[in-house]
Amino acid sequence: MFSSIQEYQQQLLSGSTNCVAVVSHYLQQIEKHKNLNAFVNVYKEEALQQAVVLDEKRKQGDSLKKLHGVIIAIKDVICHKDHEVTAASNILKGFKSIYNATAVQKLLDEDAIIIGSCNCDEFAMGSSNENSSYGATLNAFDTTKVPGGSSGGSAVAVQAGMCMVSLGSDTGGSVRQPADFCGIVGIKPTYGRISRYGLIAYASSFDQIGIFGNNVDDVQLTLEVIAGADDFDSTAIQQSSLNLSSIVKEEKKYRIAYFKEAVEHASLDTEISIAINETLQQLKSEGHTVEAVEFDLLDYVVPAYYVLTTAEASSNLSRFDGVRYGHRTKEPVADLVEFYKRTRSEGFGKEVQKRILLGTFVLSAGYYDAYYSKAQKVRRLLTDKIVTIFKEYDAIVLPTSPTTAFKIGEKTDDPIAMYLADIYTVFANLTGVPAISVPLYKHSNGMPFGLQVITNKQDEETLLAFSKLLMQQYKSYQHLAVNE
Ligand code: GLN
Repeated sequence: MFSSIQEYQQQLLSGSTNCVAVVSHYLQQIEKHKNLNAFVNVYKEEALQQAVVLDEKRKQGDSLKKLHGVIIAIKDVICHKDHEVTAASNILKGFKSIYNATAVQKLLDEDAIIIGSCNCDEFAMGSSNENSSYGATLNAFDTTKVPGGSSGGSAVAVQAGMCMVSLGSDTGGSVRQPADFCGIVGIKPTYGRISRYGLIAYASSFDQIGIFGNNVDDVQLTLEVIAGADDFDSTAIQQSSLNLSSIVKEEKKYRIAYFKEAVEHASLDTEISIAINETLQQLKSEGHTVEAVEFDLLDYVVPAYYVLTTAEASSNLSRFDGVRYGHRTKEPVADLVEFYKRTRSEGFGKEVQKRILLGTFVLSAGYYDAYYSKAQKVRRLLTDKIVTIFKEYDAIVLPTSPTTAFKIGEKTDDPIAMYLADIYTVFANLTGVPAISVPLYKHSNGMPFGLQVITNKQDEETLLAFSKLLMQQYKSYQHLAVNE
């Protein structure tokens, strides 16, 4: 409907549109695309009411706050006061948050309109949005295919024009991979850039809120608003705000690294490999430095990621016990242990149960050294590697995903195949660096795919500037039409 938030706000100021009309439009879109199952809750009355208030504010001559009237959807793992938040799990069905996540509070403080909460994999565990108590979300380009996960609903909400930007969470790729599958932009900032206060924890040393948008500018604006230090999250970066206004505009020549092992990996779709190689060649011919960097750890990243995240999840999810909140078994029980067992077996889905068991196992006294401490060592090696790389390069370029969106059900019986789909994304979470998926390509099978860019810790500036360059000069197709 609008090419960017900036254009929308200009139209608001010129009077050619107003928030009520725009909210109504997005509500219609949500209704029209109900079959995609992207939303868990839609806040119709509330969004319209807020639109009325904002239209009045402009009439009074108030200057526009940064996200004035911007229509935003949030993943069902982010707390929004007095609204249901369930992590797409039966264990939290009906639970209403009693406070706002810091990111949500910051959106509201800048006059954004939150239109609804989005479907996702249960507790953000998944790569396809099929592990949800609300059922799968469908990809708007091809409804027989997954939108990616775990933030699939948030991605489809942007993809099918049901909101302007959306929030997801990215523990191992859950923003970048669905962005890749849906043909939109998805950023995971530096670990700690956005407060995790009010984000339901999956693996706390990996979790980060991320943003989906149609273009880099919208994502950048939203990031500027929600980033920043927070007394409620001691891991949030202690820098009061993120100032991207000085973003590199001039014709900078970038020093770009890529991993041969990644672009030649056996699991990578040939067309994706060719497309990325072509982009690298083009960048080189335009005067950027493009060099292969040795990376012999690729086959260890997925195992290390799943050992560490399941360990953290097994601890984080112990709070869902049916005593204080959430689902509680109605079956007669003999004692407290049976009460916990029944409650948790009824409330958690299969994937979540599997990960709690796996995480408990890798932390158990007999196996801790064999798995958990080994995986920590891999994490350390990766972090050291990244420090060395960014001494010489501005950015690393990688595929986002080894394939385009796969069929619904295709990988559900093969968890290893599903986990291996995260091969290119978990690296940024293991090391804490910022990463983005930029929608540059279209596959001959009709589906979009993106290019992943990674920069040094806290260097979102280069990440965004380079992404803009890619979108302007290297995007190989025009917008794929979703029936808006
Ligand atoms: N697919 C990964 C997992 O299942 C990533 C999930 C995420 O980033 N939340 O763990």
